[in-house]
Amino acid sequence: MNVVTVKSNSLDYDKTKIWSWIEEDCKFYNGHFVLKSGKHTSDYICCDPLFTSLDRVNSTARALAYNLPKAVLVGGISAHKPPARLVRTVIAPAVGGIMLGNSTALYLPAANSHMWVASKYGYLIRALFADKQSDGGFGFERLGFAEALEGEDVLVVEDATTTGESLAKTIDAARQVGANVVAASVIVNRGKLTAETFGVEYFGSLFEIEDYPMNDPDDCPMCAAAQPIATHPALGHGRAYQLQYPDYVGGYILKPTRRGSNA
Ligand SMILES: [Zn+2]
Repeated sequence: MNVVTVKSNSLDYDKTKIWSWIEEDCKFYNGHFVLKSGKHTSDYICCDPLFTSLDRVNSTARALAYNLPKAVLVGGISAHKPPARLVRTVIAPAVGGIMLGNSTALYLPAANSHMWVASKYGYLIRALFADKQSDGGFGFERLGFAEALEGEDVLVVEDATTTGESLAKTIDAARQVGANVVAASVIVNRGKLTAETFGVEYFGSLFEIEDYPMNDPDDCPMCAAAQPIATHPALGHGRAYQLQYPDYVGGYILKPTRRGSNA
């Protein structure tokens, strides 16, 4: 692939390490894939293997937390009253974002350098997740989750995002129960998404892919070339596409050969 922009800041070392894990383990595939949004792509990045190592999850979560501007995390500090803003709750769309959300939440107090707030006002850290609903949306249905979010300043995290659909739906769900969604952070931004995309003050990513290939099915060069679509459940939504279009002329395969491997 493609151009990857690693933003320059004090986290460069961590980011280089994290990207090497993604390259090493996250299995870049070249082929014909269906994304959650319905768009087709020739390059699929599967971040799941990052989550097989708690150490790697934690390193990545730490980078996400420290990447956030402090002014986003805490504001209106005064010795005499609670801060006007204190991001102490992380939310994520289930299931993929849960581990990342938990770990990121644990790093927030250190990342915002205002530990004294914790001792003075009680820094209750929360990591909650939104369940996917039958209509394709997300919601905080679990007992106590909606109540915990009411009035809270919230950060939402996700591993990789392309169109931002899951993030946007999770943000909507949080706002519906009264949360103030301040910021969104992802490991990989494949879709040139911005804070405006989500209506948040800050949107950050550790890595951006500037030329991630995405096409509508009607305008997809792989479809035009009758290239088989991957149906492996870890490689997008090809299986659902197959059920919808069983007669696609290019046919279906479980998964293509991993790029750079001889398998
Ligand atoms: Zn296609």
